Amino acid sequence: GEDAKVNMLILMSDTGGGHRASAQALEAALEEMYPGRIAVTMVDIFTEHSRWPYSASVPAYQYAAKNPLVWRAMYEYARFPPTRYLNGKMLSFQNFGRFKEAMQRYSPDFVVSVHPLCQDLPLKVLNAMGPQRTRQLPFVTVVTDLGGAHPTWFNNQVDKVFIASDAVMRVAFREGLSAAQLGLPIRPAFWKDPRPSLELREELGLEAEPPVAMVMGGGDGVGGMGAIATAVIKTLAEELERSQVVVICGKNEVVKRELEEADWPSNTRVIVHGFVSNMDEWMGAVDTLVTKAGPGTIAEATIRGLPVMLSGYLPGQEEGNVPYVVNGGFGAYSKNPTEIGATVARWLKNPELLQKMKDCALQAARPRASYDIAREIADMLFVDEDGGGGGHGEPEEAVVANSGG
Ligand code: UDP
Repeated sequence: GEDAKVNMLILMSDTGGGHRASAQALEAALEEMYPGRIAVTMVDIFTEHSRWPYSASVPAYQYAAKNPLVWRAMYEYARFPPTRYLNGKMLSFQNFGRFKEAMQRYSPDFVVSVHPLCQDLPLKVLNAMGPQRTRQLPFVTVVTDLGGAHPTWFNNQVDKVFIASDAVMRVAFREGLSAAQLGLPIRPAFWKDPRPSLELREELGLEAEPPVAMVMGGGDGVGGMGAIATAVIKTLAEELERSQVVVICGKNEVVKRELEEADWPSNTRVIVHGFVSNMDEWMGAVDTLVTKAGPGTIAEATIRGLPVMLSGYLPGQEEGNVPYVVNGGFGAYSKNPTEIGATVARWLKNPELLQKMKDCALQAARPRASYDIAREIADMLFVDEDGGGGGHGEPEEAVVANSGG
């Protein structure tokens, strides 16, 4: 019939790459499952609709991510109840009017937040806009962190919160939210089964036999990855007859050049790349991964069944990802390059252990997260049509709803 498109507004900010990446994954799933029915608008509300200092959130985040003390201070400032309260007041005082104007302009039918600082004020604005100061339109949060989540993710006025781990589920539950644990939305390249790893190895210029370790440092290639890659290469050269090491430097040109120009032991093949766009293929081709504890990278690694050696994390934000990996039985953590190298060598020398960790990784994997979240959102949007979504099949994971209260 004459179906009008639903206007979906996704609130986010580009503080780190993960928020936009998850939002895009969700949009892709919605479009695939409900083609032409939902028009998605994504907005960085801080950059586009707020005053300084909030308008500078993105560069401030980038600066802080490279300076642990500044990072810690910002993280605690937003968490510690009195400063969190003051910050909320200031944000609201400065930007309430602007956010309201923006909301009126976008005029959404449905709001999705994928950012820890996009709950409180947007909800306050939407409440104020409704009759009798009650919000009219549905609002859900998709938590884009993995093993832990900052308290500002959770506002008990949201209709539903989507999360990715038991640890975060417990927090959501404690806060009295209606929550569904369906996994972290990851880009479409990871939704399909991988191609055989031998095929991928050949295509990517790797040899079939010798074990492969891959070293990366997130999209920006941060976290002392030059020293880590060097230690991994040297240890593998000493401990294994032959081996291969792939280093993905992301946007870190300096490390890339250093590693390309270095001389490596002849029994170890070293392949260096900058930012790659076929991460799904690389992860399907290698035997193990060394990385900082980024949520996207870890979730992708689980989908490809990769044991993960964590080499660092952003304090607070990525801290919970360490137990997620270690207790999940598919990895370890150390920030010491020598120990990282030794651990990876030990794994690669032990195929049985590698297989065990691979199984554990796959157990934690949620390749269908984007579809499952899209389906639940559609169930809220198109309630009348398919009787609450029974026709789409049930999500695999239990959905826990609070009893109100
Ligand atoms: N990534 C990529 N190519 C690269 C390096 C990284 O596609 O060369 C991707 C990686 O697969 C992951 C994302 O960048 O999806 C990094 O996200 P994560 O949440 O791990 O960390 P962030 O960099 O956002 O802190």
